[in-house]
Amino acid sequence: MSLLKIVLSLDLGGNRRLVVHENNEVFVKDLATKKCAFFTPLRWKRFIGLIADIEEHAQLSLVGKTTHYMQQIGGTWYVSVDSKFLTVDIRQWYEDLRSGTSLKPTRVGIALTYFNWEKLKKAVVEVDDEIPAMLAVSPCWHESQIDQMFCDECSPFHKVKDVANVRAAEAAEILTIDTDFNTSDHAVDFTQRGKKLRMNPLLSTVE
Ligand SMILES: [Zn+2]
Repeated sequence: MSLLKIVLSLDLGGNRRLVVHENNEVFVKDLATKKCAFFTPLRWKRFIGLIADIEEHAQLSLVGKTTHYMQQIGGTWYVSVDSKFLTVDIRQWYEDLRSGTSLKPTRVGIALTYFNWEKLKKAVVEVDDEIPAMLAVSPCWHESQIDQMFCDECSPFHKVKDVANVRAAEAAEILTIDTDFNTSDHAVDFTQRGKKLRMNPLLSTVE
């Protein structure tokens, strides 16, 4: 059990509570079953950004429409809404290597009833009001695709092969920029880049 001080504790209905620790980590837990979802501030922020989408799918499944929604909130954590279950599920998933690339749920996480979900939406506003530091957290942002692929938050299941492919593509781009000795400015527009691509002897066979 964590020894960090609890700075906010909100009722989500039933045995469920939302708890914020002094380091701004958020827990959504069931006091009876001990099931729990855990958010770093970054993941909490990403989760908040998905609320409108989650709500839309929850509403669809409530009126009997078939829906299957799943979004990553950071690392191996995902939020999902499936009309089969009538819950908002916040859970860690793993990549099942035997079945190729498909993700499978782990037992770590919590399935919220729609009653819990309604309360959680209100709790989100309260967290923002009570924990100002949370407002300053911004979601992950990456300058390049390769940075994103190396980020364990954004690409927890990245493959060495995929990274190598992007690396090759980026290396080709840098090569074309470096052949232009007249400019030290790397912020080239795309028309210029096209021209350089044609000038590069290594890439001339492409055309
Ligand atoms: Zn990232």
